[in-house]
Amino acid sequence: MAEWTRTRVGLPGGRGFDRWFLDSGKPGYRVVIFGGVHGDETEGVIAANRLAGMALGLKAGSVTVLPIVNEEAYGADTRLTPADGGNLARAFPGRADGTPTEQLAFALTSDVLVGCDLLIDLHTSGRTLDIPFTIGYIDDGRDKKGLSERAAKVFGADFIWRHPIRPPGRTLNGADAAIYTEAPGAGPTSLENAGNFTDGVLRVLDELGLLEKPLATCSTRISQRIVGGNNVELDPMATKHEGLFIHRSRQGQKVAKGDLLGLVVNLKGETLEEIRADRDGWVVSLKYRPQVRKGEPVAGLAVADER
Ligand SMILES: [Zn+2]
Repeated sequence: MAEWTRTRVGLPGGRGFDRWFLDSGKPGYRVVIFGGVHGDETEGVIAANRLAGMALGLKAGSVTVLPIVNEEAYGADTRLTPADGGNLARAFPGRADGTPTEQLAFALTSDVLVGCDLLIDLHTSGRTLDIPFTIGYIDDGRDKKGLSERAAKVFGADFIWRHPIRPPGRTLNGADAAIYTEAPGAGPTSLENAGNFTDGVLRVLDELGLLEKPLATCSTRISQRIVGGNNVELDPMATKHEGLFIHRSRQGQKVAKGDLLGLVVNLKGETLEEIRADRDGWVVSLKYRPQVRKGEPVAGLAVADER
């Protein structure tokens, strides 16, 4: 039986990350799992820590797990790297002589992701946004084997989100086939979502033929397939006023064009503006914290993926 190895990858300034590696010694897909790319998203960290060292009964390929990719951000309980304010999920492929965030991205690109067949990047929505339980995949033509769509279909999330474009800098650019999770994450840590992530990854490993026997049952969730919104931070509908954002919808809700999603109010609670759905679809992102600036994105919709 193959045994896990755990190694420390060191970076300048005492930074670095732990890498867990399990090699079946046989041909098969090489899967890499990231937790903690953003330091304030705990469910992915829990799921990745559970998977690291788990008795997987690997019969093909290999599994690499980085339980906490951005340790410095995790230590500070922040989304961004404290040393430079960098967003690791937008810093790929990185630079060897760049900022600490760029150096970390470069080490991941040049060391961990070389030869990777499928990257599974475990995120939740963190402090800034509220997002439903989603598995997203990139569909820009680079994934010739269609692994990311296969993986997304068995993961068992409420939404399967197809992105026809790969925006520059994303962690997901590090491999041709890549999927990522999102889940409501603005509130306290959800062990239920952490369990959903662990089970979803196990289903993917089973789907790709890596496991001796299934370690998670098939999901009973019916996933809604959605498309669009290439970047949850940039695409959503924006405010015309400065004020406080009041939710009038919730993440995952199905809405019709014209439905009220939220309000912007002044400091007396008087309505300055109504944010209404600009199309039929599902609410896939809502700004969580109330204070908004003029022109700030606050609510995002994705439409049904008819393909
Ligand atoms: Zn994230």
